[in-house]
Amino acid sequence: MTEARQSILDTAIDQDPSTLKVRQTIFRSILAGMPIDEALISEVTGLGNSVVRSTVDRLVAAGIATTDAGEGVRRSVDGSEGLTVRSSRHSIVISGKELHTWCAFDVVGIPAALGLDTTGSTQCPTCGTEIELMMRGGEVVDSGAIGWWPSASGGPVIEAFCPSASIFCNRSHLEEWRVTTGAEGAPRTLMELAEAGRSTWASFTAIE
Ligand SMILES: [Zn+2]
Repeated sequence: MTEARQSILDTAIDQDPSTLKVRQTIFRSILAGMPIDEALISEVTGLGNSVVRSTVDRLVAAGIATTDAGEGVRRSVDGSEGLTVRSSRHSIVISGKELHTWCAFDVVGIPAALGLDTTGSTQCPTCGTEIELMMRGGEVVDSGAIGWWPSASGGPVIEAFCPSASIFCNRSHLEEWRVTTGAEGAPRTLMELAEAGRSTWASFTAIE
């Protein structure tokens, strides 16, 4: 399971210190339920507007951030590293705030990396049932659900990986979907997804 040891987020973009600072600043804001505009990113990080602008552009191109339609420094980042304030079919309640995620993996992986208590949910792609995903202190409260780890072959993370990083009611619903879609990848237990999450979001565990 080598892919669990490297972060699909970190490998999507150059890891220079200012890029990391921008990513952490954005993630912290989204985690608190707030989009963050470029003027504020600049203020918090101490980086100039043009550096922030080009960094956000690169994050969007890599598929690890999304922005609203704001102009100039008023453009806001509204999604970061899998976590988003936009609506999606995956939800997660963190410290009483309801947020959404880009895929089912995030609902397990983010609290696993950050050691959080969360209540989340996702929809089984086969039958549409809401699957509840509880985490306690970053550990999976196990259910019969089973995840899918897509073999993404490059491209923006939000487009190449997220759409099929799903969680299913059970193994038979996963198999049904796999046969129908011919998807490339492998099944993962929720515990394995939590483990993969700890490496995927390792750059975000030390932010206050
Ligand atoms: Zn199902």
